This record gives sequence, structure tokens and C-alpha cells, in this order.
Amino acid sequence: MKIGVLAVQGAFAEHIAMLKKLGIDAIAVRLPRELTGLNGLIIPGGESTSISRLMQDYHLTDEIKKLAGEGLPVFGTCAGMIMMAEDVSGNDSLEPLGLMHIKVTRNAFGRQRESFEAELAIPALGEKTFPGIFIRAPLIEQTNGKVEVLSTLADGTVVAARQDKLLVSSFHPELTDDLRFHRYFLDIVS
Ligand code: GLN
Repeated sequence: MKIGVLAVQGAFAEHIAMLKKLGIDAIAVRLPRELTGLNGLIIPGGESTSISRLMQDYHLTDEIKKLAGEGLPVFGTCAGMIMMAEDVSGNDSLEPLGLMHIKVTRNAFGRQRESFEAELAIPALGEKTFPGIFIRAPLIEQTNGKVEVLSTLADGTVVAARQDKLLVSSFHPELTDDLRFHRYFLDIVS
């Protein structure tokens, strides 16, 4: 199994390290030809405006849209989730890929909670809570019927979701020691 991690900007090295811990052949993707033969793709956190611009500059946008349309599993964390959304609230600064039927709000948690950790209930991963690390995180404001909500905060805010082979989280599983979220993506892939 070969998993690519989009490596134009952001926390790609941490995802690659996590995949290596799981015994997976993980490669950094910067060129369209590096998308060939992948079984799955991760779009990391970072700055979505930069990721969007660099994806265009490197001619990755259309190729990723095409492959996802053909069924390539894609997992987006934080800025990666923003990139996968169909709609970004009040957006005029980036071009999302529009892969998932979700509407997201960027930097959604305000100043006092800009960065925080929360123990998340994610039933799909088992009973034990998952350490959610949120860094200037987006939230999922709206989903449609094709989207399965995987986790919410105590106040009901949606922070992880799945649509077929597409997976997103507001938070950063690659910054924890908990391998379950990545393993869940690998289960989708295989
Ligand atoms: N605030 C960033 C954005 O809007 C996302 C932050 C992150 O990926 N940790 O792109």
C-alpha cells in the first residue's frame, strides 16, 4: 500500500512519520506525477490559502480532483479539511477542491480558544476517547445526507466526518501518539 502526503506546505512530515510507524510506504507529493499509483492521499494542516495557491502553481489541483472523483481515498486534516470542502464560509481567498459535501468555517474558535485540546468521543475508533489537538482550527458548519458525522465537541460542533472514501478532521491526529485515526483511514483505503 502506497500513501501520498501532499507536501507543498504545512505538517506533512508528521503525517509521513505516523504512516511509517504503521509500517506504510509513505511519500511526499509535490509533483503531479507523484500522484500516480497512490492508494490514498493525505492533505495536511497548515495554511489553506498557501496550500491552495501552491497546489495551483504545482498543477496538482485538477489531478487530485480527478483522482478523488475516480475513488481515490483522501484524508484532510485542519487546513486539509478546508481544501476538501465544497464550500468555505465567507471565502474569497482560496479555491477549495470541493470533494466533500461540507461547508466549513475557518479559524472558527475565536481568540481565547485559538489552540486547545479536547478529549473526543469518536465511536468509529472504539470506546476510548481520542486526543483532539486544535490549532486555529476550522469547524464543519453544514453537512448533507451523504456525510457521516464521526465526532462532535460537547456543544455539538462537528469536528470529524466521512463521505465514502473521504475523511476529514478539524484537529491534528498526526500530532498525537494515537494511531487510531490514521489506521481508520488505512481501513478505508484497503
Ligand atoms: N487556520 C488555518 C487555515 O485556515 C488552518 C490551521 C491548521 O491547519 N492548523 O488555513
